[in-house]
Amino acid sequence: MSAPSSDVLSWLEKLIAIDTTSRDTNLPLIELVADHARSLGLSPQVFPTPDGAKANLLITVPDAQGRTDGGIMLSGHSDVVPTDGQAWTSDPYTLTERDGLLYGRGVTDMKGFDAVAINALAALVAQPLSTPVHVGLTHDEEVGCVGAQPFVDAMKAAGVLPDIVFVGEPTSMRMIRAHKSINLVEATFHGVPAHSSLTSSGVNAIEYAASLVRYWREQADRWRADGPFDEAYPVAYTTGSVNLFSGGNGVNIVPRAPR
Ligand SMILES: [Zn+2]
Repeated sequence: MSAPSSDVLSWLEKLIAIDTTSRDTNLPLIELVADHARSLGLSPQVFPTPDGAKANLLITVPDAQGRTDGGIMLSGHSDVVPTDGQAWTSDPYTLTERDGLLYGRGVTDMKGFDAVAINALAALVAQPLSTPVHVGLTHDEEVGCVGAQPFVDAMKAAGVLPDIVFVGEPTSMRMIRAHKSINLVEATFHGVPAHSSLTSSGVNAIEYAASLVRYWREQADRWRADGPFDEAYPVAYTTGSVNLFSGGNGVNIVPRAPR
């Protein structure tokens, strides 16, 4: 792999110097990049959070026909994880080179990619493109991808739906084409309490909950047996399990509800 150009390093140095720990604002970084895009004659779109403390950024380089829909997106996040309690041997917000390696908070995850994408804008503007290219920067990825959904909504509202998105997360330089999603379901059962000598007067919440647990186990077994399958994953089918369970009111009481 060739060394990054001095222009990319210059961008990385600037991005690293702005502390964008997720708990703080990312606006100085967003404004810096938006100003750069404006200087290239582009029209960056800044989408602030409802409280105005942070923002997502969309930069579109239209194709030769002026088209902005579809195309390719280079997607990065602007925030970084905290350095609290970590033993750094150099200032985390000063890009530092030692033994051919670059050190700084977010160099790998993922201001390095951001710097490459931002630096590419000038070259993209300078030539007629056969398809639009977008650069996107989100806020609050490190605290649950909080910025991503409003970013997608804002892009939809702006009429920009890329055909392909490259997300520059660190993957040890391997191409990762997909990622399993997660769905969490919480169910609460409400029974009718009664003394355990009078079960016919009560409705047992735990027993009804157990039937849902059983159903869910069988559903997971069906996925394992019948798919759909994607052999690219270490576990090639959809998984499901019951991971938390609580309930009961007393050893001699038909349970009313979970604890
Ligand atoms: Zn990341």
